[in-house]
Amino acid sequence: MSSTETATRGPSDRRGPVAPASSGLPSALREKLLDWYVTVRRDLPWRRTRDPYAVWLSETMLQQTRVETVVPYYQRFMRELPTMAALAEASEERVLALWSGLGYYRRARMLHAAAKEVVRAHGGRLPTEAAELRRLEGIGAYTAGAIASIAFARREAVVDGNVARVLARLHAIEGDIRSSRVVTRLWTLARDLLPGAEGDPGDWNQALMELGATVCLPRLPRCDVCPVHDQCAAHARGIERELPRSVPKKRPIVVRRLAVVLASPRAVLLARRRADVLFGGLWEPPTSSNEGSGDLTARLGLRAQDLEHVGDVVHVLSHRRMTVEVRRGRLERHARFEVPGPEYDAIERVDWSRIEHLARAALTRKILQVAKVAPRGLRLT
Ligand code: SF4
Repeated sequence: MSSTETATRGPSDRRGPVAPASSGLPSALREKLLDWYVTVRRDLPWRRTRDPYAVWLSETMLQQTRVETVVPYYQRFMRELPTMAALAEASEERVLALWSGLGYYRRARMLHAAAKEVVRAHGGRLPTEAAELRRLEGIGAYTAGAIASIAFARREAVVDGNVARVLARLHAIEGDIRSSRVVTRLWTLARDLLPGAEGDPGDWNQALMELGATVCLPRLPRCDVCPVHDQCAAHARGIERELPRSVPKKRPIVVRRLAVVLASPRAVLLARRRADVLFGGLWEPPTSSNEGSGDLTARLGLRAQDLEHVGDVVHVLSHRRMTVEVRRGRLERHARFEVPGPEYDAIERVDWSRIEHLARAALTRKILQVAKVAPRGLRLT
């Protein structure tokens, strides 16, 4: 697996157009790419099954997330909640705990809500048609196309970040890759390329995605080993590294926060974020904006000198760049604590043995690592 591989999916989901499929298939390109895919495809756990639930789970986890990050999460999730019914019956706390560290927690909540709906309205089976799949929470054009084509062999296209890049280069499309005009064109091209009745649309879609993930890389496309380089317009014109073009994204908002880690050899103090705020439902050391640091310290019944600054954590989200100052103090056995601010709805001393079972953001692991308070041998994932 390439270390430079990308596997971002999903941004095109919300913008799937409704242009009809057309004929005129470049079958030579399809044959070459499919032959290549059959030979080199990576053995990923979700590729060993066509179970619609497994396909759906993997596609949801892969949105905005790299393949190598997803693999252990997918395997654990499938072990703990192996069926639609098991997911529908699970508590939100359990689902979020299994998702802890994977980020974009809204995906987990929507997956959970959709599983309940599938059990309630569809007898526990995912609908087979993309249009019906799209009525479920969290399933957009990309995910619906992926499930319908891979799990149900429906003739549905997919356009994720990888496919968009490949198609933009194959056809030397110069417009902004995020503009609705180009997105519509990419979906039309993806539909035009689908194999006819004799082919497997799921394999074809995965072949395109695999090419984008392992060969047609964002900065340095590996055209020398590309199975379709002789049919690539961007390569022929020597502009493959310039494509796809995109208008630069806005700079992320810079946020400064303070985290207070109170710990003892037995436990650590964690607070749960309210469901309707960023990182909702997740547990973390009490945290505030720096402007509110005095408030936070007071709410915890501490004086500034009770805490020691042990380092900073930088955490980058899609639209924010957070710098979290970490201060550490002792968790006294008899101290009582109130909920430490409006962003929280609970606060608890959590025994270190329990921490792996709580829903936590990746940021919490980083904060606890900087604070160096976890007992020796405890692996915080
Ligand atoms: Fe991408 Fe290069 Fe292949 Fe064109 S030839 S599809 S730019 S890897």
